Amino acid sequence: MDLTQYHALLTDDVQERFLRYVRVHTTSDRHCEETPSTKRQFDLAHLLARELKEMGVSQVSVTDHCYVTARLPASPGVTAPPLLLLAHLDTAPDLSGEGVSPRLWESYDGSPLELGHGYRLDPAEYPDLLDYIGDTVITTDGSTLLGADDKAGVAEIMSALRFLQDHPEVEHGLIEVIFTPDEEIGRGVDKIPLEWITAQFAFTLDGGRQGSIEAECFSAWQVQVEIEGYVIHPGSAKNKLVNAVALAGRYLAAIPQAESPEATEGRDGFYCPVEVRGDYGRAEIELIVRDFDQAQVDRRVAYLKELGKTLELAYPRSRIEVRARQQYLNMYDTISRHPFVMDVLEKAVRAAGLEPVLEPIRGGTDGSRLTEMGIPTPNIFAGGFNFHGRYEWIPVSAMRRATETILHLVRLWKDEVPEKS
Ligand SMILES: [Zn+2]
Repeated sequence: MDLTQYHALLTDDVQERFLRYVRVHTTSDRHCEETPSTKRQFDLAHLLARELKEMGVSQVSVTDHCYVTARLPASPGVTAPPLLLLAHLDTAPDLSGEGVSPRLWESYDGSPLELGHGYRLDPAEYPDLLDYIGDTVITTDGSTLLGADDKAGVAEIMSALRFLQDHPEVEHGLIEVIFTPDEEIGRGVDKIPLEWITAQFAFTLDGGRQGSIEAECFSAWQVQVEIEGYVIHPGSAKNKLVNAVALAGRYLAAIPQAESPEATEGRDGFYCPVEVRGDYGRAEIELIVRDFDQAQVDRRVAYLKELGKTLELAYPRSRIEVRARQQYLNMYDTISRHPFVMDVLEKAVRAAGLEPVLEPIRGGTDGSRLTEMGIPTPNIFAGGFNFHGRYEWIPVSAMRRATETILHLVRLWKDEVPEKS
Protein backbone atom coordinates (compact mmCIF):
# COMPACT_ATOMS: atom_id res chain seq x y z
CA MET A 1 0.00 0.00 0.00
CA ASP A 2 1.56 3.27 -1.14
CA LEU A 3 0.40 6.26 0.85
CA THR A 4 2.69 8.81 -0.83
CA GLN A 5 -0.17 10.46 -2.69
CA TYR A 6 -1.91 11.05 0.64
CA HIS A 7 1.01 12.66 2.48
CA ALA A 8 -0.35 16.20 2.20
CA LEU A 9 -3.82 15.11 3.25
CA LEU A 10 -2.60 13.09 6.22
CA THR A 11 -0.22 15.86 7.29
CA ASP A 12 -2.93 18.53 7.23
CA ASP A 13 -5.41 16.35 9.05
CA VAL A 14 -3.13 15.24 11.87
CA GLN A 15 -1.69 18.74 12.35
CA GLU A 16 -5.12 20.34 12.50
CA ARG A 17 -6.35 17.77 15.03
CA PHE A 18 -3.23 18.11 17.16
CA LEU A 19 -3.55 21.90 17.33
CA ARG A 20 -7.20 21.53 18.33
CA TYR A 21 -6.66 18.90 21.01
CA VAL A 22 -3.68 20.54 22.76
CA ARG A 23 -5.79 23.63 23.44
CA VAL A 24 -8.13 21.59 25.62
CA HIS A 25 -6.97 21.70 29.24
CA THR A 26 -6.71 18.10 30.47
CA THR A 27 -4.10 18.14 33.25
CA SER A 28 -4.61 15.23 35.65
CA ASP A 29 -4.23 15.51 39.43
CA ARG A 30 -2.33 12.92 41.41
CA HIS A 31 -3.96 14.09 44.67
CA CYS A 32 -7.47 13.20 43.58
CA GLU A 33 -8.43 9.56 44.08
CA GLU A 34 -11.34 9.62 41.67
CA THR A 35 -11.33 8.56 38.02
CA PRO A 36 -11.05 10.83 36.17
CA SER A 37 -8.90 12.78 38.60
CA THR A 38 -10.04 16.01 36.95
CA LYS A 39 -13.47 16.59 35.38
CA ARG A 40 -11.92 18.74 32.65
CA GLN A 41 -10.68 15.57 30.92
CA PHE A 42 -14.31 15.04 29.89
CA ASP A 43 -14.01 18.12 27.67
CA LEU A 44 -11.59 16.36 25.36
CA ALA A 45 -13.39 13.01 25.75
CA HIS A 46 -16.69 14.52 24.55
CA LEU A 47 -14.98 16.44 21.75
CA LEU A 48 -13.42 13.21 20.46
CA ALA A 49 -16.67 11.25 20.79
CA ARG A 50 -18.41 13.96 18.76
CA GLU A 51 -15.74 13.90 16.06
CA LEU A 52 -15.83 10.11 15.89
CA LYS A 53 -19.58 10.14 15.41
CA GLU A 54 -19.27 12.85 12.77
CA MET A 55 -16.86 10.70 10.81
CA GLY A 56 -19.36 7.86 10.94
CA VAL A 57 -17.65 5.57 13.43
CA SER A 58 -20.21 3.31 15.05
CA GLN A 59 -20.40 2.36 18.71
CA VAL A 60 -18.85 5.47 20.27
CA SER A 61 -19.30 6.23 23.92
CA VAL A 62 -17.77 8.02 26.89
CA THR A 63 -17.94 6.06 30.13
CA ASP A 64 -18.71 7.59 33.53
CA HIS A 65 -14.99 7.32 34.25
CA CYS A 66 -14.03 9.28 31.14
CA TYR A 67 -12.91 6.49 28.82
CA VAL A 68 -13.76 7.10 25.17
CA THR A 69 -14.50 3.79 23.45
CA ALA A 70 -15.10 3.30 19.75
CA ARG A 71 -15.29 0.43 17.30
CA LEU A 72 -14.56 0.42 13.60
CA PRO A 73 -16.13 -2.77 12.23
CA ALA A 74 -14.06 -5.06 10.03
CA SER A 75 -14.15 -4.53 6.28
CA PRO A 76 -16.78 -6.74 4.62
CA GLY A 77 -15.60 -10.32 4.44
CA VAL A 78 -12.50 -9.77 6.59
CA THR A 79 -12.15 -12.05 9.59
CA ALA A 80 -8.87 -10.91 11.15
CA PRO A 81 -8.45 -10.88 14.93
CA PRO A 82 -9.48 -7.55 16.47
CA LEU A 83 -6.89 -4.97 17.42
CA LEU A 84 -7.05 -2.33 20.16
CA LEU A 85 -5.41 1.11 19.86
CA LEU A 86 -4.97 3.43 22.84
CA ALA A 87 -3.77 6.93 23.65
CA HIS A 88 -4.29 9.07 26.74
CA LEU A 89 -6.31 12.22 27.20
CA ASP A 90 -4.53 13.80 30.16
CA THR A 91 -1.31 15.79 30.37
CA ALA A 92 1.28 15.66 33.13
CA PRO A 93 0.63 17.73 36.27
CA ASP A 94 4.32 18.74 36.30
CA LEU A 95 3.62 21.96 34.42
CA SER A 96 0.45 23.87 33.57
CA GLY A 97 -1.53 22.56 30.63
CA GLU A 98 -4.04 25.39 30.81
CA GLY A 99 -4.27 27.89 27.97
CA VAL A 100 -1.80 25.99 25.79
CA SER A 101 -1.01 28.22 22.84
CA PRO A 102 0.98 26.11 20.38
CA ARG A 103 3.45 27.81 18.06
CA LEU A 104 3.94 26.58 14.53
CA TRP A 105 7.38 26.97 12.92
CA GLU A 106 7.01 26.24 9.22
CA SER A 107 10.10 25.37 7.17
CA TYR A 108 12.23 25.27 10.30
CA ASP A 109 15.69 26.68 9.49
CA GLY A 110 17.81 25.17 12.27
CA SER A 111 18.13 28.31 14.36
CA PRO A 112 17.22 28.64 18.08
CA LEU A 113 13.49 29.10 18.58
CA GLU A 114 12.39 31.99 20.80
CA LEU A 115 9.35 30.40 22.38
CA GLY A 116 8.19 33.43 24.33
CA HIS A 117 8.13 34.33 28.04
CA GLY A 118 11.92 34.45 27.94
CA TYR A 119 12.41 30.80 26.98
CA ARG A 120 14.37 29.56 24.02
CA LEU A 121 14.55 26.11 22.44
CA ASP A 122 18.09 25.85 21.17
CA PRO A 123 19.38 23.07 18.90
CA ALA A 124 22.76 23.48 20.65
CA GLU A 125 21.05 21.95 23.66
CA TYR A 126 18.47 19.83 21.79
CA PRO A 127 20.25 18.69 18.60
CA ASP A 128 17.32 16.46 17.57
CA LEU A 129 15.79 19.65 16.18
CA LEU A 130 18.39 19.63 13.41
CA ASP A 131 16.93 16.39 12.03
CA TYR A 132 13.81 18.33 11.12
CA ILE A 133 15.22 21.29 9.20
CA GLY A 134 12.76 22.23 6.48
CA ASP A 135 9.93 20.57 8.36
CA THR A 136 7.10 22.12 10.35
CA VAL A 137 7.85 22.05 14.06
CA ILE A 138 5.30 22.74 16.81
CA THR A 139 6.42 24.14 20.18
CA THR A 140 4.90 25.81 23.23
CA ASP A 141 4.86 29.56 23.79
CA GLY A 142 7.09 29.02 26.83
CA SER A 143 4.31 29.33 29.42
CA THR A 144 2.92 25.78 29.51
CA LEU A 145 3.74 22.27 28.42
CA LEU A 146 2.61 21.34 24.91
CA GLY A 147 0.77 18.10 25.58
CA ALA A 148 2.21 16.23 22.60
CA ASP A 149 2.31 13.54 25.27
CA ASP A 150 -0.18 12.27 24.40
CA LYS A 151 -2.38 14.42 22.21
CA ALA A 152 -0.10 13.51 19.34
CA GLY A 153 -1.09 9.88 19.90
CA VAL A 154 -4.76 10.85 20.08
CA ALA A 155 -4.52 12.89 16.86
CA GLU A 156 -2.66 10.10 15.05
CA ILE A 157 -5.28 7.48 15.93
CA MET A 158 -8.10 9.88 14.98
CA SER A 159 -6.44 10.66 11.64
CA ALA A 160 -5.95 6.97 10.89
CA LEU A 161 -9.62 6.27 11.63
CA ARG A 162 -10.69 9.18 9.45
CA PHE A 163 -8.56 7.81 6.62
CA LEU A 164 -9.94 4.29 6.98
CA GLN A 165 -13.48 5.64 6.95
CA ASP A 166 -12.77 7.50 3.69
CA HIS A 167 -10.81 4.66 2.09
CA PRO A 168 -12.74 1.40 2.33
CA GLU A 169 -10.24 -0.14 -0.10
CA VAL A 170 -7.78 -0.35 2.83
CA GLU A 171 -9.10 -3.55 4.36
CA HIS A 172 -8.80 -4.27 8.06
CA GLY A 173 -10.25 -6.38 10.84
CA LEU A 174 -12.26 -4.99 13.76
CA ILE A 175 -10.47 -2.00 15.28
CA GLU A 176 -11.19 -1.02 18.87
CA VAL A 177 -10.07 2.34 20.23
CA ILE A 178 -9.89 3.57 23.80
CA PHE A 179 -8.76 7.02 24.91
CA THR A 180 -7.90 6.87 28.60
CA PRO A 181 -7.78 9.48 31.39
CA ASP A 182 -5.11 9.77 34.11
CA GLU A 183 -2.25 7.93 32.43
CA GLU A 184 0.22 10.52 33.68
CA ILE A 185 -0.61 9.78 37.31
CA GLY A 186 -0.27 6.05 36.76
CA ARG A 187 -3.97 5.28 36.85
CA GLY A 188 -4.83 5.15 33.17
CA VAL A 189 -6.33 1.67 33.25
CA ASP A 190 -7.85 1.71 36.75
CA LYS A 191 -11.40 1.90 35.41
CA ILE A 192 -10.84 0.72 31.87
CA PRO A 193 -13.94 -1.15 30.62
CA LEU A 194 -12.15 -4.51 30.30
CA GLU A 195 -15.38 -6.36 29.50
CA TRP A 196 -15.86 -4.10 26.46
CA ILE A 197 -12.51 -5.13 24.94
CA THR A 198 -12.59 -8.11 22.60
CA ALA A 199 -9.05 -7.67 21.22
CA GLN A 200 -6.34 -9.92 22.61
CA PHE A 201 -3.57 -7.52 21.64
CA ALA A 202 -3.25 -3.77 21.82
CA PHE A 203 -0.90 -0.91 20.97
CA THR A 204 -0.49 2.42 22.72
CA LEU A 205 0.52 5.46 20.67
CA ASP A 206 2.47 7.09 23.46
CA GLY A 207 6.14 6.91 22.56
CA GLY A 208 8.79 9.43 21.55
CA ARG A 209 10.85 9.97 18.43
CA GLN A 210 9.75 8.59 15.08
CA GLY A 211 10.66 4.99 14.46
CA SER A 212 10.92 4.01 18.12
CA ILE A 213 8.86 1.07 19.34
CA GLU A 214 8.83 -0.24 22.85
CA ALA A 215 8.11 -3.62 24.35
CA GLU A 216 9.98 -3.11 27.58
CA CYS A 217 9.30 -0.62 30.36
CA PHE A 218 10.40 0.08 33.89
CA SER A 219 9.07 -1.86 36.81
CA ALA A 220 7.69 0.90 38.96
CA TRP A 221 7.04 1.40 42.66
CA GLN A 222 5.79 4.37 44.58
CA VAL A 223 7.09 4.98 48.10
CA GLN A 224 5.40 7.15 50.71
CA VAL A 225 7.43 8.29 53.73
CA GLU A 226 5.57 9.72 56.72
CA ILE A 227 7.71 11.49 59.29
CA GLU A 228 6.35 12.48 62.66
CA GLY A 229 8.60 14.78 64.61
CA TYR A 230 8.51 15.72 68.27
CA VAL A 231 7.15 19.20 68.72
CA ILE A 232 8.12 21.64 71.41
CA HIS A 233 8.61 25.43 71.48
CA PRO A 234 11.94 26.19 69.75
CA GLY A 235 12.94 28.39 72.71
CA SER A 236 13.07 25.39 75.02
CA ALA A 237 13.80 22.72 72.48
CA LYS A 238 17.26 21.58 73.47
CA ASN A 239 17.56 17.76 73.46
CA LYS A 240 13.83 17.42 72.91
CA LEU A 241 12.66 18.79 69.60
CA VAL A 242 12.69 16.55 66.57
CA ASN A 243 11.98 18.79 63.59
CA ALA A 244 10.13 16.86 60.89
CA VAL A 245 11.24 19.27 58.16
CA ALA A 246 14.90 18.80 59.07
CA LEU A 247 14.41 15.04 59.26
CA ALA A 248 12.84 14.98 55.80
CA GLY A 249 15.94 16.81 54.58
CA ARG A 250 18.22 14.18 56.10
CA TYR A 251 16.17 11.38 54.64
CA LEU A 252 16.42 12.90 51.16
CA ALA A 253 20.14 13.62 51.55
CA ALA A 254 20.79 9.92 52.22
CA ILE A 255 19.42 8.81 48.86
CA PRO A 256 22.29 8.01 46.48
CA GLN A 257 22.67 10.88 44.03
CA ALA A 258 24.30 8.52 41.53
CA GLU A 259 20.96 6.69 41.28
CA SER A 260 18.85 9.70 40.37
CA PRO A 261 17.13 10.31 37.02
CA GLU A 262 19.56 13.12 36.29
CA ALA A 263 22.53 10.78 36.77
CA THR A 264 21.25 7.75 34.86
CA GLU A 265 20.21 6.72 31.36
CA GLY A 266 19.78 3.61 29.23
CA ARG A 267 19.07 0.56 31.35
CA ASP A 268 19.97 2.04 34.75
CA GLY A 269 17.19 2.61 37.24
CA PHE A 270 16.75 5.29 39.88
CA TYR A 271 15.16 6.79 42.97
CA CYS A 272 13.30 10.05 42.41
CA PRO A 273 11.65 12.17 45.11
CA VAL A 274 8.60 13.74 43.47
CA GLU A 275 6.99 15.61 46.33
CA VAL A 276 7.75 16.89 49.83
CA ARG A 277 5.22 18.57 52.09
CA GLY A 278 5.07 19.23 55.76
CA ASP A 279 6.02 21.40 58.70
CA TYR A 280 7.86 21.37 62.00
CA GLY A 281 5.73 18.54 63.38
CA ARG A 282 4.99 16.31 60.44
CA ALA A 283 6.36 15.79 56.96
CA GLU A 284 5.67 13.54 54.01
CA ILE A 285 7.88 12.54 51.14
CA GLU A 286 6.73 10.81 48.00
CA LEU A 287 9.26 8.98 45.86
CA ILE A 288 9.20 6.81 42.81
CA VAL A 289 11.56 3.90 42.26
CA ARG A 290 12.23 2.58 38.78
CA ASP A 291 14.29 -0.16 37.17
CA PHE A 292 14.09 -2.71 34.34
CA ASP A 293 15.33 -5.33 36.78
CA GLN A 294 12.94 -6.25 39.59
CA ALA A 295 15.83 -7.20 41.91
CA GLN A 296 17.13 -3.63 41.68
CA VAL A 297 13.69 -2.24 42.45
CA ASP A 298 13.47 -4.52 45.49
CA ARG A 299 16.91 -3.43 46.66
CA ARG A 300 15.97 0.26 46.47
CA VAL A 301 12.64 -0.20 48.22
CA ALA A 302 14.44 -2.14 50.97
CA TYR A 303 16.98 0.67 51.31
CA LEU A 304 14.24 3.28 51.68
CA LYS A 305 12.61 1.23 54.41
CA GLU A 306 15.91 0.69 56.21
CA LEU A 307 16.66 4.38 55.93
CA GLY A 308 13.44 5.14 57.81
CA LYS A 309 14.40 2.69 60.57
CA THR A 310 17.93 4.09 60.80
CA LEU A 311 16.69 7.64 61.24
CA GLU A 312 14.19 6.47 63.83
CA LEU A 313 17.05 4.94 65.78
CA ALA A 314 19.07 8.13 65.47
CA TYR A 315 16.07 10.26 66.55
CA PRO A 316 14.17 8.08 69.02
CA ARG A 317 11.35 10.61 69.48
CA SER A 318 10.51 10.47 65.80
CA ARG A 319 8.19 8.06 64.02
CA ILE A 320 8.96 7.23 60.43
CA GLU A 321 6.71 5.03 58.37
CA VAL A 322 7.68 3.92 54.87
CA ARG A 323 5.06 2.34 52.64
CA ALA A 324 5.70 1.01 49.14
CA ARG A 325 3.27 -0.03 46.45
CA GLN A 326 3.73 -1.44 42.99
CA GLN A 327 2.59 0.79 40.13
CA TYR A 328 3.38 -1.32 37.07
CA LEU A 329 5.74 -4.08 35.91
CA ASN A 330 8.12 -4.48 33.02
CA MET A 331 5.99 -5.86 30.18
CA TYR A 332 8.86 -7.50 28.32
CA ASP A 333 8.37 -11.06 29.56
CA THR A 334 4.74 -11.18 28.49
CA ILE A 335 5.16 -9.48 25.12
CA SER A 336 8.15 -11.60 24.15
CA ARG A 337 5.93 -14.68 24.42
CA HIS A 338 4.10 -13.43 21.30
CA PRO A 339 6.94 -12.60 18.91
CA PHE A 340 4.63 -11.99 15.93
CA VAL A 341 3.30 -8.83 17.61
CA MET A 342 6.62 -7.02 17.40
CA ASP A 343 7.33 -8.56 13.98
CA VAL A 344 4.18 -7.08 12.51
CA LEU A 345 4.82 -3.75 14.21
CA GLU A 346 8.36 -3.57 12.81
CA LYS A 347 7.02 -4.26 9.33
CA ALA A 348 4.47 -1.48 9.74
CA VAL A 349 7.15 1.02 10.80
CA ARG A 350 9.29 0.05 7.79
CA ALA A 351 6.32 0.40 5.48
CA ALA A 352 5.99 3.97 6.81
CA GLY A 353 9.53 4.65 5.60
CA LEU A 354 11.33 4.41 8.93
CA GLU A 355 13.86 2.06 10.45
CA PRO A 356 12.31 0.66 13.65
CA VAL A 357 14.36 1.19 16.80
CA LEU A 358 13.45 -1.03 19.72
CA GLU A 359 13.99 0.98 22.89
CA PRO A 360 13.29 0.25 26.54
CA ILE A 361 10.85 2.88 27.87
CA ARG A 362 12.29 4.79 30.81
CA GLY A 363 8.79 5.06 32.15
CA GLY A 364 5.53 3.22 31.79
CA THR A 365 2.42 3.45 29.70
CA ASP A 366 -1.16 2.29 29.97
CA GLY A 367 0.20 -0.69 28.08
CA SER A 368 2.38 -1.74 31.00
CA ARG A 369 -0.62 -2.50 33.16
CA LEU A 370 -2.81 -3.73 30.32
CA THR A 371 -0.08 -6.26 29.60
CA GLU A 372 -0.25 -7.37 33.23
CA MET A 373 -4.01 -7.68 32.85
CA GLY A 374 -3.50 -10.14 29.99
CA ILE A 375 -3.52 -7.93 26.89
CA PRO A 376 0.05 -7.60 25.57
CA THR A 377 0.42 -3.93 24.59
CA PRO A 378 3.63 -2.59 23.08
CA ASN A 379 4.08 1.13 22.58
CA ILE A 380 4.46 2.97 19.26
CA PHE A 381 6.16 6.34 18.79
CA ALA A 382 3.96 9.42 18.73
CA GLY A 383 6.83 11.61 17.50
CA GLY A 384 7.41 14.24 20.20
CA PHE A 385 10.40 15.33 22.31
CA ASN A 386 11.03 16.77 25.80
CA PHE A 387 7.73 15.63 27.29
CA HIS A 388 6.16 17.20 30.37
CA GLY A 389 7.81 20.60 30.12
CA ARG A 390 7.82 23.94 28.34
CA TYR A 391 10.50 22.70 25.90
CA GLU A 392 8.22 20.01 24.55
CA TRP A 393 8.09 20.01 20.73
CA ILE A 394 7.00 17.82 17.88
CA PRO A 395 7.67 17.72 14.13
CA VAL A 396 4.49 17.38 12.07
CA SER A 397 6.11 14.86 9.70
CA ALA A 398 6.64 12.49 12.63
CA MET A 399 2.93 12.63 13.43
CA ARG A 400 2.11 11.83 9.81
CA ARG A 401 4.50 8.86 9.93
CA ALA A 402 2.83 7.59 13.11
CA THR A 403 -0.55 7.80 11.39
CA GLU A 404 0.89 5.90 8.42
CA THR A 405 2.34 3.30 10.80
CA ILE A 406 -1.15 2.70 12.22
CA LEU A 407 -2.59 2.29 8.72
CA HIS A 408 0.09 -0.23 7.77
CA LEU A 409 -0.33 -1.99 11.07
CA VAL A 410 -4.05 -2.62 10.64
CA ARG A 411 -3.47 -3.79 7.09
CA LEU A 412 -0.64 -6.16 8.08
CA TRP A 413 -2.56 -7.36 11.13
CA LYS A 414 -5.26 -8.60 8.78
CA ASP A 415 -2.76 -10.45 6.57
CA GLU A 416 -0.19 -11.76 8.97
CA VAL A 417 -1.70 -12.44 12.34
CA PRO A 418 -2.83 -16.00 12.93
CA GLU A 419 -6.57 -16.30 13.49
CA LYS A 420 -6.13 -18.10 16.81
CA SER A 421 -3.24 -16.07 18.13
ZN1 LIG B 1 2.17 9.70 27.66
